[in-house]
Amino acid sequence: VIALKDVSLRLGEGASSVHVLKGVSLEVARGEATGIVGPSGSGKSTLLMVLAGLERVDSGTVRIAGELLNGKSEDQIASFRGRNIGIVFQSFHLIPNMTALENVAVPLELAGHADPFSVAARELAAVGLSDRVTHYPGELSGGEQQRVAIARALAPSPRILIADEPTGNLDQATGWQVADLLFAKAAERGMTLVLVTHDPALAARCSRQVSMRSGRIETTVALKVTA
Ligand code: ATP
Ligand code: MG
Repeated sequence: VIALKDVSLRLGEGASSVHVLKGVSLEVARGEATGIVGPSGSGKSTLLMVLAGLERVDSGTVRIAGELLNGKSEDQIASFRGRNIGIVFQSFHLIPNMTALENVAVPLELAGHADPFSVAARELAAVGLSDRVTHYPGELSGGEQQRVAIARALAPSPRILIADEPTGNLDQATGWQVADLLFAKAAERGMTLVLVTHDPALAARCSRQVSMRSGRIETTVALKVTA
């Protein structure tokens, strides 16, 4: 469902420009959970941005769900992303002046959904937050905010779920609950999960582990799924 071929990307201008991805090829099968690990600065987040169509590549091809992103316009990519890809970030990225329900409804409204609020309510219930629907992000704990973010990512029923250190801002127990939720939802809905994490225990729960170093994929290891 994901196929990157020899992708290279340089970010920044002039003297401060950095060759962030140096010929990355990666294939991820439908329904697979891939964990991306590697040192800080190795290009993990940038790779996720490429998968989400949020960053264009200088060379190589990016094919997601059968569609080649390279030649598409910004509008085409935005609409493609809205239909196919859900994203969860380390720092939640909720809109502060919207309630949990309104936050989850945003991608549905953007997609022109007929009844965004009832779907949003259902998704919040699915992450165990039926009693936090009218709360604002500032009134929620970190774990609750991340669950709202997961509900928002899941709401449009994307095929691919991308998560950049989704447990990075949470304590261990809360992080583990959030991880359980992510893995459970991905499995339940047959979604492909691509997860960046610094937590080896979390990476070990994926079906495959990809290690990055200095803008390259160093190793790819198939794992026996334990949870
Ligand atoms: P971390 O584990 O710390 O999150 P990462 O593996 O996610 O690291 P990236 O955020 O992908 O790393 O960044 C990879 C490299 O690209 C870093 O060295 C970073 O400084 C550089 N970089 C990222 N964005 C830009 C930019 N806009 N201009 C120049 N360099 C950039
Ligand atoms: Mg990062």
